[in-house]
Amino acid sequence: GANLNNSFTFDNFIEGKSNQLAHAAALQVAENPGGAYNPLFIYGGVGLGKTHLMQAVGTEMMRHNPNAKVVYLHSERFVADMVKALQLNAINDFKRYYRSVDALLIDDIQFFAGKDRTQEEFFHTFNALLEGGQQMILTCDRYPKEIQGLEDRLKSRFGWGLTVAIEPPELETRVAILMRKADESGIKLSYDSAFFIAQKIRSNVRELEGALKRVIANSHFTGRAITPDFVRESLKDLLALQDKLVNIDNIQRIVAEYYKIKISDLLSKRRSRSVARPRQVAMSLAKELTNHSLPEIGDAFGGRDHTTALHAIRKIKELQDTDSDIREDYKQLMRILTT
Ligand code: ADP
Ligand code: MG
Repeated sequence: GANLNNSFTFDNFIEGKSNQLAHAAALQVAENPGGAYNPLFIYGGVGLGKTHLMQAVGTEMMRHNPNAKVVYLHSERFVADMVKALQLNAINDFKRYYRSVDALLIDDIQFFAGKDRTQEEFFHTFNALLEGGQQMILTCDRYPKEIQGLEDRLKSRFGWGLTVAIEPPELETRVAILMRKADESGIKLSYDSAFFIAQKIRSNVRELEGALKRVIANSHFTGRAITPDFVRESLKDLLALQDKLVNIDNIQRIVAEYYKIKISDLLSKRRSRSVARPRQVAMSLAKELTNHSLPEIGDAFGGRDHTTALHAIRKIKELQDTDSDIREDYKQLMRILTT
């Protein structure tokens, strides 16, 4: 396989609610290339495992069939190769090469945006591969319809197979990933230490790995064992920086913007649903994303007491299970605040 990285496997990909669909779809494609979903289109934010999963499919295909021609490349590489082929009058070779593959894996196709000539060429390659039953896997940092500067005919084709999202991992998955990565590095990481890191680092898996590396390095240098306190100390700067970015003021501002209400509404005594819900959402976010206590959070929302904050948090937790609007709102806001 060209450019396949064997360290990205299904075996070392931790499954969780956030990546379950993408993981299941990728497995099916690996087992039945060209026959399950074509193309498989995986989208989601940075550091969430898109490249890992895509590469895992390629590696798995090669394991089943060592003679398979599986080609992985980043979309910028596709663009550069095509430009070069045009300059060298070798565009026919370029076409022939890409049409001869058993599977074509193109990463981060958002970089095709605004590149008309590339899109034209890729359009024909896409059609040829689809017709030939050759597997395509594409990743992107956003939903295909949201890519500005991408031809409509490509957008629609990207949806012909299966489009799946990868979401930021939830707490339990973050813990599992950390335990696994530590294990792979031959490090003993207690559940409590993993839990501490996972609670603090919520944005994506790459950040999680970065934090863990820092802790491990610090432990090597100091010869001290990794405990939750040691983790806190090792990540002090990182966490301080994070606290500066996500604080109650920011949360209130962003929640107010999101629901198109005024910040003063969040702090007011008004109890109509249109402001009470956003207020409860904001309090829950404050609890989840900052280190403030319940009394502090209640106080920051117009001098309410801690039981009001507690009630808000319980209410939103409950609504996340029963109300898909709230669930979606909360997820969106989390994403805005943590990335
Ligand atoms: P993306 O392509 O979405 O930006 P990557 O696939 O490069 O993200 O993932 C970033 C890092 O996180 C990689 O080292 C990858 O192995 C790791 N990673 C992401 N998701 C998982 C997961 N579910 N299990 C294990 N490792 C993961
Ligand atoms: Mg990637």
